[in-house]
Amino acid sequence: MTNKYMIFIANWKMFGGLNSLNTINSVNRFLKKFKYKKLIKIIYCPPSTLINPMSVKLKNSKISVGAQNCHENQKSGAFTGSINTSMLKNVGARYVIIGHSENRQSGESNELINRKIKSALKFGLKVIFCVGETSQERKKKFTNKILTKQIKLGLKKIDNKKNILISYEPVWAIGTGVIPKTKELLKTINFIKKKFKNYKVLYGGSVNPKNINQLKNIDNLDGFLIGGASQNSKKFIDIIKKTYN
Ligand code: PEP
Repeated sequence: MTNKYMIFIANWKMFGGLNSLNTINSVNRFLKKFKYKKLIKIIYCPPSTLINPMSVKLKNSKISVGAQNCHENQKSGAFTGSINTSMLKNVGARYVIIGHSENRQSGESNELINRKIKSALKFGLKVIFCVGETSQERKKKFTNKILTKQIKLGLKKIDNKKNILISYEPVWAIGTGVIPKTKELLKTINFIKKKFKNYKVLYGGSVNPKNINQLKNIDNLDGFLIGGASQNSKKFIDIIKKTYN
């Protein structure tokens, strides 16, 4: 049972069409009645195609909308297929996920991530900054070293603790159904919090209604980033309820 302020982020990845927006109705209804509603923040990060209709739908709601990535360039230009931070803000995004491992795997460097974060902050978007080690790095006991490097380089010359949420997402836990052992996760979150003071730190990687009972025991966490399970509003609501049970 927790009674602290917690952030729940739904990352829909490359899923969903206009019909999927209806799933938010039940989350909205739930939030209005939830006993701990003042303690929670919900952020939906749908695919770019849904950012605008979702933010219109959530205009009078406490739920915020975010994007899943952005281009580094602040100015518009000839970058086919890309969207920059001012364009995201213009259609209603208030947050943006940067550094997700699915994008790091396709070549996103720490330096590029740093430029994207600077661009997002400049246009008033809050940043959900993802970091995490691969299973090989974990086996070699490089987790802390990798996290330090990713965070130091990603946040180089940036001092904005208020508008950046660090989301620790071990690559081996994303979409696999496997989560870190409580002791291991507690240690890693403590490590990040000690080294990068005053940042909010979330956990992401296969969070679901079953394992939330274990994860909520990590009392230094500030919230969860939820991928697969967030596409189903019943599961998403269950995760939130159980966190406060
Ligand atoms: C994610 O998309 O960041 C994520 C944590 O996904 P999942 O919950 O499906 O592992």
